[in-house]
Amino acid sequence: MSGVVSDCVSDFAPVLALHGGAGTLRRAAMTPAREAAYHAGLMAALNAGRVVLQAGGTALDAVTASVMALEDDPLFNAGRGAVLTSAGTQEMDAAIMDGTDRRAGAVAGLFGPRNPILAARAVMEQTDHVLLIGAGGEAFCRDIGLEFMPPDYFLTQARQESLARELERRASGAADDGDAARKHGTVGAVALDCRGHLAAATSTGGMTAKLPGRVGDSPVIGAGTFADDATCAVSATGHGEFFIRYAVAHEISARMRWAGQSLKKASEGIVAELAPLGGSGGLVAVDRTGAISLPFNSEGMYRAWMDASGALHTAIF
Ligand code: ASP
Repeated sequence: MSGVVSDCVSDFAPVLALHGGAGTLRRAAMTPAREAAYHAGLMAALNAGRVVLQAGGTALDAVTASVMALEDDPLFNAGRGAVLTSAGTQEMDAAIMDGTDRRAGAVAGLFGPRNPILAARAVMEQTDHVLLIGAGGEAFCRDIGLEFMPPDYFLTQARQESLARELERRASGAADDGDAARKHGTVGAVALDCRGHLAAATSTGGMTAKLPGRVGDSPVIGAGTFADDATCAVSATGHGEFFIRYAVAHEISARMRWAGQSLKKASEGIVAELAPLGGSGGLVAVDRTGAISLPFNSEGMYRAWMDASGALHTAIF
C-alpha cells in the first residue's frame, strides 16, 4: 500500500511503528488461529495511526489512535485485557510525549478510564503536571469527562488464568521459567509525521502479579516513553524495573545526541546490554529521518510498522 499525503507542506514521508508487548506467547503455544488474531489486531492498530498520518495529521494524533486501538483489543495488556496485580486488581499506566516541544503527560495506577492513553494526553494538554496517579488521576479523568467502563469490561479470563498460574508458581517455590507471555505485555507506538515531528505513546497493565502500587517504566518519561524531534521517539516493553534503572528511552536519545550514534546502533545496543542483566524486553523507535528500529531480546515482540514507502508490516517472532 502506498502513502498518499494530502495536507503536507514538507518532504517528510510519515512513518509509524507500534508494539503489542514483548510478552509473546511461546512458539510452541502459538496456534495458527491465535497468530492470525494477533496479526489482525496489530494491523488494525497500524491502520488506525496510518490514516491519521496519511491525511496529514500529527504524529501525536497517530500514536494516540494506534494505542487506543490496542487498548480496546483484549489480546493486549493495556486497557481492556490488562494484567492483574497480586491482589487481583488492575492498575494501568500510560504516557505520551510530543517531540516538538517535549511536552509530556502520564498516568499511573489508574483504573476505570477506557483509554488510559487519553488520560495521559489530557494530563499533558489540560494540566500543568506531567504525571498523575491513582485516585487523584481518576478524579481528574471524571472531571474532564473521559469515558469510564465498568470493571467487567477490563477483565479477561486469560489474565485471570495467568495470575492464578503465577501465584501457584510462587507458592510452590518453583523457579521462574521465564515465560514472558505469563508476565509481560504493554502496547506502544512511535511516529514521524509529514512535518517532521516525532511522538511516542505507551500504555500497559504492567506485569502480572505485581504488587499493588507498583509503577513500571511505561509512564516514566525517559524510561519507557520518550520523544524529541532532535533525535528519536521510543516506546518500550519488557521488565520495567530494568528500563527505569537504565533510563532506556532517554539513553537512546542521549547516545544519538552526544555520541553521534545511529538510531539502530543506539537502540540495539541498549537492548542487548539489558539481556544479560535480566532485563528482557524490547522497544519500537523512529528517528527524525524516518529510520525505524524494533529491537528485542525476548523470544518475540508483537510489532507492526509502516515504513517511508507506505508499506505495512506485522511480525511476532
Ligand atoms: N514494561 C511493562 C512494565 O514493566 C511491562 C511490559 O512491557 O511487559 O510495566
